[in-house]
Amino acid sequence: MRWALIGASRIASSYMIDAIRAQDGAEITAVLSSSAERGAEYAQTHGVAQSYTDLDALLSGAPCDAVYISTTNEKHHAQALACIAAGKHVLCEKPLAMSVSDANEMVTAAEDAGVVFATNHHLRNAGTHLAIREQIQKGAVGDVLSIRVFHAVQLPQDLQGWRIDNPEAGGGVIPDIVVHDADTVRFHLDEDPVSVVAKATASGLGEGVEDSVMSVWTMPSGAMVMTHESFTHAFARTGFEVHGTRGSIVARDVMTQRPVGEITLTDADGPRPIAFDAHNLYVRSLGLYYAATRGQGRPSADGVDGIKSLAVALAVKEAAETGREVVVDYGGR
Ligand code: NDP
Repeated sequence: MRWALIGASRIASSYMIDAIRAQDGAEITAVLSSSAERGAEYAQTHGVAQSYTDLDALLSGAPCDAVYISTTNEKHHAQALACIAAGKHVLCEKPLAMSVSDANEMVTAAEDAGVVFATNHHLRNAGTHLAIREQIQKGAVGDVLSIRVFHAVQLPQDLQGWRIDNPEAGGGVIPDIVVHDADTVRFHLDEDPVSVVAKATASGLGEGVEDSVMSVWTMPSGAMVMTHESFTHAFARTGFEVHGTRGSIVARDVMTQRPVGEITLTDADGPRPIAFDAHNLYVRSLGLYYAATRGQGRPSADGVDGIKSLAVALAVKEAAETGREVVVDYGGR
């Protein structure tokens, strides 16, 4: 499969170029950048044959079957629609778009065109989260009463660009991290949050966007979910906890891009560690995506998953801004 990179981004250079190239027969033929100079340099650094500054030129000129979109968030919608219209499979970064209706339009267009559309939610590919889900599914914690998500981190200096000062590009901790937590909770519980309450704050890290948020979600089953996301917590370890009628799972350092962490299951027999497979999250995600384009299975997070994680994040944003409980609007999905 021949891939084009839409966006000369850090996430592509840090993880996705290697993950794409880890698939049998995959090659990256072109990269799109708004800057000819940066695009050419990026292409040379990463061994990509061609760079383009115009998406239509790339779509008509570069040999490619699939695109990976990792530009800033406000660009995903128009770029995805153009790629889908050109018949390309699309793996799109989160959040899919700036609104649920735009995300819905992207996913609907892909469905109509018969191309495979997926959302790059990496956490559901983690060995840790796969092991936690397996424990929940086999009843190790009984009925789930609550989930607590600890995803407050220090945003690294090199990522402190548009994320901390550009709401028009999709900056802020809510579009950046709440989407991942929404996807991870949905992955574990197989249900969608109904409504949310939230508080957010801007501590001065950037300008014009929130850098910390806490929220509580109501689930259809009655389970309660609380989440904490931040760009300003240098020393808080991440974590994911599932508490049920028969046991509790406490996982630490698992809200991460790396295959690390530890999981403890505690029930009437006492605490014990849960083993997990420490594979590369993005390579697994790409493998499932690759198979889906060949008619085998489905991507780990598809387009509807991306719509739903965005819908939860936008509800959290509205709840934090208004101080009211907000019913999540999934746009009919
Ligand atoms: P970057 O800031 O690295 O890239 C976004 C855009 O910024 C690029 O498309 C590029 O524009 C431009 N850019 C990159 N480097 C420079 C530079 N040195 N000077 C000027 N402009 C530059 O963003 P990320 O890689 O962090 O995020 C991209 C997308 O991926 C976002 O949607 C984000 O939410 C998502 N993401 C997802 C992750 C995941 O694990 N699923 C993790 C991290 C990000 P151009 O293309 O025009 O050259």
